Amino acid sequence: MWTAIAQHISAKTGTAFVIRDRQAVGGGCINQAYQISDGHQAYFLKLNQASQVAMFEAEALGLRDMCDSQTIRVPKPVCWGTVDGSAYIAMEWLDLGRGGDAWGRMGEQLAAMHRVTSDRGFGWVQPNTIGATPQPNPWTASWLEFYREHRLRHQFRLAGRRGGHFPRQHELLMALPDLLAGHDPAPSLVHGDLWSGNAAVTTVGEPVILDPATYYGDREVDIAMTELFGRFPEAFYQAYNAAYPLDTGYATRKVLYNLYHVINHFNLFGGSYESQANRMIDQLLR
Ligand code: ADP
Repeated sequence: MWTAIAQHISAKTGTAFVIRDRQAVGGGCINQAYQISDGHQAYFLKLNQASQVAMFEAEALGLRDMCDSQTIRVPKPVCWGTVDGSAYIAMEWLDLGRGGDAWGRMGEQLAAMHRVTSDRGFGWVQPNTIGATPQPNPWTASWLEFYREHRLRHQFRLAGRRGGHFPRQHELLMALPDLLAGHDPAPSLVHGDLWSGNAAVTTVGEPVILDPATYYGDREVDIAMTELFGRFPEAFYQAYNAAYPLDTGYATRKVLYNLYHVINHFNLFGGSYESQANRMIDQLLR
């Protein structure tokens, strides 16, 4: 397997690559991760079951779109595929360090990425995943429809199959036109899963975002998620708002947008995420 992966990397980069060193990397939620190196050049490699290759393909295409935006550093994807029953993705290795004073620049650069828009509307070139959950992205002209159908209703449907009980879900879906009234977001290129575990800084002080669930959506979904599991440092918000101020009503939409991730967490992990989601729904319907 390792030889085949190294050959694929060699073919893609046009430079011979042989794995001389392989170190497991911790910290991921879903995949096994490694640093592979020939002593000169290193790559970051993720492995999963062969059935998960579409997830890696979508990750590679998302990283490519974000790289192409030339706004914020993301690992450059190299190749993906299946070999010996495993799916893999190889990407640029980045030496990650400590936050330092890079948070302001991260805010500024994320704002620049959010200025990249799609003329096809909201959605993306293909479905991807949020955590391990499938995330549909059919191109949709209306953000209200996209968020209602392909984000919230989709997660509610999966949660229903898992035995989740969200008594006011239909009431919430019906209230969406009111909750989003007067808000007309552009279809921005978003990271889609921007919690603190997916934001880092290289040892030379460059902000980096990792492990995306890329699509074109309301940029506020990214800012909302930075606030879901403990906020990013204040410098991030100050710089983001200076570069691309948030619209009024963000405080309410933040709850609406984070509800997607909380129901997804129920779908991935079960437990108390169900009651957390129900409290958020009550808050939105108050
Ligand atoms: P998973 O898909 O399993 O959640 P991640 O993509 O989040 O895995 O990666 C796991 C960890 O590996 C990250 O938290 C980060 O510390 C590190 N990492 C991710 N991408 C790179 C990279 N390109 N170079 C170096 N380290 C990385």
